[in-house]
Amino acid sequence: MYEGAVQDLIDELGRLPGVGPKSAQRIAFHLLAADAADVGRLVASLQRVQAEVRFCSICFNVAEAEQCRICRDPRRTLDVICVVEEPKDVVAIERTREFRGRYHVLGGAISPIEGIGPDDLKVKELMSRLMDGSVTELIIATDPNLEGEATAAYLARLVSPMGLAVSRLASGLPVGGDLEYADEVTLGRAFEGRRRI
Ligand SMILES: [Zn+2]
Repeated sequence: MYEGAVQDLIDELGRLPGVGPKSAQRIAFHLLAADAADVGRLVASLQRVQAEVRFCSICFNVAEAEQCRICRDPRRTLDVICVVEEPKDVVAIERTREFRGRYHVLGGAISPIEGIGPDDLKVKELMSRLMDGSVTELIIATDPNLEGEATAAYLARLVSPMGLAVSRLASGLPVGGDLEYADEVTLGRAFEGRRRI
């Protein structure tokens, strides 16, 4: 619809999650009118994310070093692992201050419709973390929707021969929702009231 660079920008913005064609156009024209300094900061932060942020070699949370801040923290207990879908879920749970263990970020959830199976997630890596026997409890905090429930059921079955305490966050979380959108109090309560599965 537009020429060259402007259309390229709209196309690129439109590929971002949650940005429809109208929003892409609005953002593009906002950027066109913006100060060079503001645009420069945006470009620089995109480049920094690309260059500096990677995934923790232990838990696959976002990290700026070989290991993330949580895995490097000696005050965190080693015997409990909380399994989540995405790094943003780690942030949501950290906000509740209910959890002192470590995380494991799967990188998504099992979804036959989207063709995502256990091999596409960090399931093998989770199993190898559980092998040495130091972990005694697994809290499965996948999203309270169809894919999250399927993933929780799959993991519970997979680890059942290992004799771990496996729990799932309690109800009270909005069903069909996203963990990150739960408020701190609800998520904190769900954590306290987790039940064995
Ligand atoms: Zn980590």
